[in-house]
Amino acid sequence: MTDLIASLCPLPCLSCEKPGARRWGQRLCPRCADEIPDVLERVLPGGSLAGGWALSSYAGPLGSLLRRGKYGGDEQALRLVGHQLARLFAEERGIGLEGWLPDLVVPAPTSPGRSFWRGFDAVHLLANPVATAAGLPLSPMLRRWGGAPQASLDADARRSNLRGRIHPLKVISQGARVLLVDDVVTTGATAIACADALLGAGAREVWLLAACSAIRH
Ligand SMILES: [Zn+2]
Repeated sequence: MTDLIASLCPLPCLSCEKPGARRWGQRLCPRCADEIPDVLERVLPGGSLAGGWALSSYAGPLGSLLRRGKYGGDEQALRLVGHQLARLFAEERGIGLEGWLPDLVVPAPTSPGRSFWRGFDAVHLLANPVATAAGLPLSPMLRRWGGAPQASLDADARRSNLRGRIHPLKVISQGARVLLVDDVVTTGATAIACADALLGAGAREVWLLAACSAIRH
């Protein structure tokens, strides 16, 4: 019955907000659905990260969904992005990801205050389906304490803002390979600080999987 009602009176698209959300479980209009990337692109964030992949730049419907989730508190929009990341990672593992298989999925930490006010952890909503689809353990083992929101800072300030603020809560055993999941990578400063912390905790190597990235191969 719900599907019938939705097909007769389509809801607004979660990305462009125009009526006609007939795709992605009646959440996106056909036009936005077609613009969601269907491949993971290689990104090279540098620093201590071995490499990484991302779905898209912050422009387009994917960026709209992320902004809606992060700043509008729309959990459903983030779940759509997490679903796409998970599907592509699970499908391409061993092919598009060049045979590389992680032992562990770790979400990049958001500041506790932001998660509290949103009522959910945005990055966790992306990392959890990735781990489930790939049959890998999810370990939210990084914490971030203090500092200004990264989005308000330039590249140099982002690096110094994070210095000494990201910490592992436990040791990683047996030199595991870690897939770090983050929502938006702008300069790579957060992802690199996370990789430093994970390597310090015993990881053998750290790769990044991001929904949106301003950094390209
Ligand atoms: Zn749309």
